[in-house]
Amino acid sequence: MQEILDAIQSGASGEDIANLDVPESTRAAHVLRSEADMWEGVDSWDKDPRKSLHIGDIPLPEIAPDEAVIAVMASSINFNTVWTSIFEPLSTFGFLDRLGKESVWGARHAQDFHAVGSDASGVVLRTGSAVRNWHPGDRIVVHCNFVDDQDPSAHNDSMLAANQRIWGFETNYGGLADLAIVKANQLMPKPEHLTWEESAVNGLCASTSYRMLVGNHAGRMKQGDNVFIWGATGGIGAYATQLVLNGGGIPVGVVSSPERVKLLEAMGCESAIDRKAEGYKFWSDEHTQDEREWRRLGKKVRELIGEDPDIVFEHPGRNTMGASVFIAKKGGKIVTCAATSGYMIEYDNRHLWMKLKSIISSHFANYQEAWEMNRLIDKGAIQPVMSEVFDLEHSGAAALKVHHNEAEGKIGVLCLAPEAGLGITDPDKRERIGEDKITLYQRFARGEL
Ligand code: NAP
Repeated sequence: MQEILDAIQSGASGEDIANLDVPESTRAAHVLRSEADMWEGVDSWDKDPRKSLHIGDIPLPEIAPDEAVIAVMASSINFNTVWTSIFEPLSTFGFLDRLGKESVWGARHAQDFHAVGSDASGVVLRTGSAVRNWHPGDRIVVHCNFVDDQDPSAHNDSMLAANQRIWGFETNYGGLADLAIVKANQLMPKPEHLTWEESAVNGLCASTSYRMLVGNHAGRMKQGDNVFIWGATGGIGAYATQLVLNGGGIPVGVVSSPERVKLLEAMGCESAIDRKAEGYKFWSDEHTQDEREWRRLGKKVRELIGEDPDIVFEHPGRNTMGASVFIAKKGGKIVTCAATSGYMIEYDNRHLWMKLKSIISSHFANYQEAWEMNRLIDKGAIQPVMSEVFDLEHSGAAALKVHHNEAEGKIGVLCLAPEAGLGITDPDKRERIGEDKITLYQRFARGEL
């Protein structure tokens, strides 16, 4: 592995990288099938990823003709790694077993370990015989849409492909590792003004927000749209806030502390709501929602921007969905991609149909959407929202922070990269875009705002 790292750091040619031996195993963050019921009887909140996410060697299989082996310089923590490590709502071994039954190549994924992680930046080491557009030595980032491009259903919108999966969550050999296996159609060029870790944190969250708000399949935000964003400094929310501002919309960001309000303001979001300070209690008991609290939130939005939201960016789920449906404007859209607080949701259907609102589902992004999002990052129009960096050995601690809503934006994870701050090959561009803009979340985490 040291030889690979030395070659990458010395800027070795593609030919030299192609001549390096690729090890048959890799260090990876993984959960074990034998521990899938380790949390029985434990409250969700108390399930600690540090105990279930192991860091150790796993064997790597032969790559399929449409795949590549990448050296992962950095990765990031996504909420799906939290789900895998707390084995909720399901053990992800079920996903691997289903993939295992599909084909000979699929069978490689059904193992007694699940190597997780749905983001990566790094360098291509090897490509399969059918890979045309990528070569050893290419500096890349990875998006996590894993589709079989020989499947006809993948060719309108690949998120509708019958066997669409999220890499590193529904497949094995994910990005929280020194080496990972990806399909060639997951690769995108690394923005060269960013460090390895800054470029690794964007793939999953930024592309998800792009599809939810900008792509053709969900929000289709227009200039001037009012967009209400839950968790506006969280993983997907922080990209949503930027996309709204970049696209000429008006964001109303919800967060849960005065510090996060300050961070939102520093991002240029003028209308912020501190949901904790406001003390919203949408559920008066486990079975009953309180419409007066929905009204109180709607009134707050009108006080801030004088209008109701055209789009509600929804992901907390059960706790907030009733309120989200209520506050959207007549004819407005509620775009949802998740349900962190519970997926059995309830809303008052009268507010939906009588006011002609729509609930639109969205899930990750297709290759084109992920590529378009990566291009915006490459152009410096959207910034990485990485607040801190952990090393791979401490991925469990990083996942715990995300699980407990203690992380701002995204947490980067160093895999092969020996330290933070490496990987910038276009310093002039970085200077043009502005160090302060790029590192806003890092400066916030250091208490420098
Ligand atoms: P995150 O970094 O933890 O941010 C989520 C934010 O939502 C939190 O910071 C919190 O902000 C807010 N929040 C959490 N619980 C809430 C509640 N009960 N009521 C109101 N606000 C709440 O997570 P993320 O990466 O943004 O992901 C959010 C969800 O989307 C997760 O469930 C994840 O699995 C899902 N997701 C889905 C996709 C997809 O493709 N379908 C992709 C990415 C993520 P404040 O406390 O500051 O308000």
